[in-house]
Amino acid sequence: MIQPTDPLLQALLDALGEDVVFIGERIPAKAKSDESRTGHAMPTIYLRPRRVSDVSEALRLCNAARRPVTIQGGMTGLAGGANPDAGDVALSLDRLAGVEEVDRDAGAMTVWAGTVLETAQKAAEEAGFLLPIDLGARGSCQIGGNLANNAGGIRVISHGVTRDNVLGLEAVLADGTVISSLNKMQKNNTGYDLKQLFIGSEGTLGVITRAVLKLKPLGDGRETCLCVVESYEAAVALLHAARKGIAGLSAYEVMWRTFFDFSSKAEGLRFFEQDPPFVVLIEQSGAASIEGFLEAAFEQELISDAVIAQSEKQRLDFWKVREGYALDHLPDLMNYDVSLPIGDLDTYARAVTDEILAAYPDAHVSVFGHMGDSNIHLCISVGKAGDIEHDAVDAIVYDHVRRHKGAVSAEHGIGRLKRAYLGHSRSPEEIALMRAIKTALDPHCILNPERIFPTSRHPDVVAEA
Ligand SMILES: Cc1cc2nc3c(=O)[nH]c(=O)nc-3n(C[C@H](O)[C@H](O)[C@H](O)COP(=O)(O)OP(=O)(O)OC[C@H]3O[C@@H](n4cnc5c(N)ncnc54)[C@H](O)[C@@H]3O)c2cc1C
Repeated sequence: MIQPTDPLLQALLDALGEDVVFIGERIPAKAKSDESRTGHAMPTIYLRPRRVSDVSEALRLCNAARRPVTIQGGMTGLAGGANPDAGDVALSLDRLAGVEEVDRDAGAMTVWAGTVLETAQKAAEEAGFLLPIDLGARGSCQIGGNLANNAGGIRVISHGVTRDNVLGLEAVLADGTVISSLNKMQKNNTGYDLKQLFIGSEGTLGVITRAVLKLKPLGDGRETCLCVVESYEAAVALLHAARKGIAGLSAYEVMWRTFFDFSSKAEGLRFFEQDPPFVVLIEQSGAASIEGFLEAAFEQELISDAVIAQSEKQRLDFWKVREGYALDHLPDLMNYDVSLPIGDLDTYARAVTDEILAAYPDAHVSVFGHMGDSNIHLCISVGKAGDIEHDAVDAIVYDHVRRHKGAVSAEHGIGRLKRAYLGHSRSPEEIALMRAIKTALDPHCILNPERIFPTSRHPDVVAEA
């Protein structure tokens, strides 16, 4: 039996009961940290609402008590956004799950926010459609988290980022107001497009409870290949050729030498005789064969070697190397997710690598990512690292981003970890407008405070910014 000790807890228990309100040992360990593994505090109260009305009532009470609420989806985020502070209320969406409807005529599915992405993908497939949102964490991340982070992933080149695949959504504001904007139409120009406010807002403007997602026709084939490319210029030329010559191009991922070498060896997989300077993973969805494109690319000397997956197992092996799971075993791995103009990506990667190696000669610097979307990831380990090394490496990575007028986050969001660097990619006027929107929707700053930018809850952090 729960023994309430604070008035908010008592009010939540009275309104929602022990079925929804968890404290003490009933709070699962996963509530402490997302996949960035930077969370160190457990929430004091953990809510698992079953209905939108539960979310609304919980927020109304937390807002009245001015208590911060940390919103938690699948906890696969990499920016610390779902990590609570000690004393927070955490609100998990895991029970608000399931596919409500697949509307074939509208080409849309209505899904609860707590639905695991893979579950939604399978439901779409069973109905003969493709749900274009896709990323490596598909088995654990939730639709609500995908929308809150405007997730990118591996299908962006053909279908855009998450915000391009959403027709409508429902969200609950900090004061408990439910904004139901479950539009199913492709066109709707009736005033502000409110759903876009919540998509990519990282839980700072509202709790997303439901979404209407666009569906595409399911392709009737798929081919995946790895290509050896001798220079970055050739990788860019190959991208141009692929956009023009491959119908249904659905992935264009580039791996720099250190990354490909490390990841393929760690997986015990060898695809080429030599260690290639760049390897490009190309995937196309559709009936046409990729072979003709590769032959032309050989003739134009854009590629020097290639292998087409001969089985689903081999296709998954290609992706296993590209996902780079083995890097997680490097000590104190620092993950970065940056966007720059495509033509600048290699210059940027070289400059960062050189500066890191000059400062830390034994460091590991891996570069890979969604080159077709102007987005690369850097994985850096300087050995066992403390805060000083983390700050120094962050500064190197992000200062070079600023020089190229890039984005310090392409798809993982700002969360808590990149807050200090928002100003590298956004002007003071843009940040002021973001703050004004936050204040208008959440005047007491209870929803995911301290994410994206410092808030007045912690004056010391404001002073720092
Ligand atoms: C192996 C792996 C591969 C990945 N690959 C990619 C990739 O290719 N592309 C990419 O973009 N990301 C990738 N990620 C990062 C992560 O999976 C995505 O950001 C994902 O969208 C987060 O979803 P989640 O449900 O786990 O959210 P969480 O981690 O639980 O939360 C993320 C943020 O969203 C907020 N939030 C969660 N649910 C809601 C809601 N219902 N309403 C309002 N706010 C909410 C949280 O408060 C937090 O700020 C990867 C992560 C891993 C571990």
